[in-house]
Amino acid sequence: MNIIIFGPPGAGKGTQAKYLVEKFNSFQVSTGDMLRDEIKKDTDIGKKIINCMNDGKFVEDEIVNKLLEKAIFDINKKNKLIFDGYPRTINQAKNLESLLSKSNQKLNFVFFLNVDKETIVKRIEKRKILEKRSDDDAATILKRYDTYMEITKPILDYYSTNPNFYELDGSMEIEDISQKIEEIVSEWDIDFKPCSYITSNN
Ligand code: AMP
Repeated sequence: MNIIIFGPPGAGKGTQAKYLVEKFNSFQVSTGDMLRDEIKKDTDIGKKIINCMNDGKFVEDEIVNKLLEKAIFDINKKNKLIFDGYPRTINQAKNLESLLSKSNQKLNFVFFLNVDKETIVKRIEKRKILEKRSDDDAATILKRYDTYMEITKPILDYYSTNPNFYELDGSMEIEDISQKIEEIVSEWDIDFKPCSYITSNN
């Protein structure tokens, strides 16, 4: 089972991806994490992308695709991929399709966590109090939200006609979103039903 989770910054896609990884014994493929790791390890790639990343700009496809390819062709992760942060453009969506097909896999679900700006602002305010974050952080998140929504729109159009596309209300509580995703995924294949669910329904 391979799943894409996408949505603007603050929608909670990382949280939901981690939840799915645990629940369905799969692997999170976060291109953001992979790129940050290259910077942390100060690799050639890391040196090349550091400025781009710091400016919040997209890293060039060639680099991101190469990192992604590694995960897709990893035999241990086959059909257990939870994509978080990829694809971000139509080109990347097409590349993903081609890599999955080459590795004899397909995409089973696409979840879009839709959150309006008002909810993001409320969450930022809450975090500001809880985690003492600065206004700078809030401004950056809002800017990234606008950019994301603008750039992601074509991808939404690209996937939304697929029968496996689901738009979820990202302003719901984290647990409620997780439950909704779990219900949808579990309905698809008994093998992926959590043990407790199978037992209590048999
Ligand atoms: P994220 O952790 O997904 O918010 O990504 C953090 C940063 O990594 C982004 O602002 C981009 O600079 C870069 N990045 C992550 N994923 C991609 C991608 N699919 N294509 C291009 N750049 C990416």
